[in-house]
Amino acid sequence: MQPVDASLRPATAELVRLEGDLLAVSHGARLASVCVKCATRDDVVRRLEVMHAQRPWMWLFYLTGVLGIVILSFLQRTGGVLLPICTACDARWRRAVRVRSLTTLAIIPVSVAAIGALAAEARGRLPNGAGAWIALALAAAWTAAYVAVHAGKSRRAMVTAASIDRSLIFLRGVHPDARRELVAEATAVRHGAGAKPRSSTLSGASADDE
Ligand SMILES: [Zn+2]
Repeated sequence: MQPVDASLRPATAELVRLEGDLLAVSHGARLASVCVKCATRDDVVRRLEVMHAQRPWMWLFYLTGVLGIVILSFLQRTGGVLLPICTACDARWRRAVRVRSLTTLAIIPVSVAAIGALAAEARGRLPNGAGAWIALALAAAWTAAYVAVHAGKSRRAMVTAASIDRSLIFLRGVHPDARRELVAEATAVRHGAGAKPRSSTLSGASADDE
């Protein structure tokens, strides 16, 4: 059997670099154990996070309600990344996700109440026009709550994707110290791996050496 030639292995195209306030990482890049939210190295776990990136105009789809959100899910770009995060920041992140989901789900009771107001107006139980105004106010209140939750505190607890292209995910919300350390370690690993040529005299045992 031929020993595995290092040159035949897939090239390490992994990339971690700074892009202004964003951290650009290639899809599936292995990041160092530095919490992306507070830069600690204690109690850091890795969590697979599926990122979605939307163009600014896609936000308009939210205004059209559930159907728009479904359409949006097909239009936005998606990428997975293994994020190092400490357990405290992870808990904060999960709370933020729960608040976001509850806000999104609130569209169901809000829609039911709006339809109820329109129906009450149609049956003459509400003065003319009142049902429509109540429905409109409910829709506006829900949209305001949705935007406030997604743009506010819950966003600061998370790392989101500013944009995603074929090779890179541009992460927003990574702690500045973590950004620097993740880039420094990724660069060190890449240079370390590239500078050390593998000996071709080693056969058989070459697959699992460190
Ligand atoms: Zn943390």
